[in-house]
Amino acid sequence: MKIYSNKKIIFLKESLPNFCEIIDTNDFTKKFLIDNEIEAIFIRSNEIITKELLNGTSIKFIATATSGTDHIEDGIPHYSAPGSNANSVAEYVMFAISKYINYRKLNINKIKIGIIGFGNIGKLVAYYSHSLGLNIIINDPPLKDNGFVFPNYCQYAELPEIFKQCDIITNHVPLTFSGNYPTKNLINSSLLELIKPNSLFIHTSRGSVVNELDLLKVINKKYLYLAIDVWENEPKVNIQLASKSMLATPHIAGYSYDGKILASMMVLKHFQNHFGYQVNFEKLQNELQTSTKLMIDKIDNTIELEKLLDNSRGFTKDSNDFLDLIKINSQQIESSFISFRANHPNRREVLQSPINIQIIKQIG
Ligand code: NAD
Repeated sequence: MKIYSNKKIIFLKESLPNFCEIIDTNDFTKKFLIDNEIEAIFIRSNEIITKELLNGTSIKFIATATSGTDHIEDGIPHYSAPGSNANSVAEYVMFAISKYINYRKLNINKIKIGIIGFGNIGKLVAYYSHSLGLNIIINDPPLKDNGFVFPNYCQYAELPEIFKQCDIITNHVPLTFSGNYPTKNLINSSLLELIKPNSLFIHTSRGSVVNELDLLKVINKKYLYLAIDVWENEPKVNIQLASKSMLATPHIAGYSYDGKILASMMVLKHFQNHFGYQVNFEKLQNELQTSTKLMIDKIDNTIELEKLLDNSRGFTKDSNDFLDLIKINSQQIESSFISFRANHPNRREVLQSPINIQIIKQIG
């Protein structure tokens, strides 16, 4: 069976049955798929899959090793890896929170964090924040309207209340344009004008969920601290916003080595179930075990957490390097953004995540 795989999906060759041949290309086109009789594709968000691309090809299986699937046209059957990098993003958020608390020498038990979106990432952020002693306020109308019962350590509030009350605000919603709960431009001046002075605003979901120009207008007025990983016009970055941020990174919060291993495991499990061919998970399982994780309740304080996360994940270095790069190459921000992501080194997660444990259990 001829297979195409994005080069960033690790250990596919070592895990797939011998009769699978992985064919590489830098030119992922319909012609490539037809000429090479490709039957299965393992992709990431760079490969845009449309009905037109697939028409006339022999493709029987599509799996994306990402949680988001907006690069696949609606109506095309596919598999994905939801939650595989949730812990990676949650660690980025917990690092920003620790850095802010330590810098401002705040009393953790008096701090309120507003978490918008209580899915894979939002849940983990709530779980870690609760363990550290933060007070948690959630907003997730789709879940609430469905009768979802939030953990008893979380309060629920509407967005204006969250912006008025919280010292830390982080959003973990998908980017949606229609339906009952669209998120495009969800966070705009009407909310940002309410934000508490000196608060921390973290943005790791999708650029267009936040109106960057509206955010820029309130930064100085409200003395905001910012941790920004996603940008409205990626790979373009608003330099003004980046320079005013405590952390500014090129959409790498979800880039951890553990996340890559889990994503590979998840798409391979789909391949095994789809075709009934046996996949060898040994290499990936061994690789996962090459680093030990810490339970959040074993971490005493935010000073220790900031250090542990930064040592392993290199967030401060990434932010400093990225800011230097875009200041020096201000004419080439887009290529700097792309090359930074392409050359991002493997970094290990630190925290034991209940979601990772659940995924590993499901793979068996
Ligand atoms: P998820 O689908 O597990 O959860 C999303 C949650 O948002 C759901 O509970 C949903 O009910 C809620 N939601 C939807 N619309 C809402 C609205 N209008 N208001 C409030 N809540 C709403 O998603 P996830 O895996 O937790 O990912 C969250 C976001 O993080 C996505 O945008 C994803 O693309 C992004 N992400 C970023 C990175 C990165 O590297 N920065 C990596 C992974 C995921």
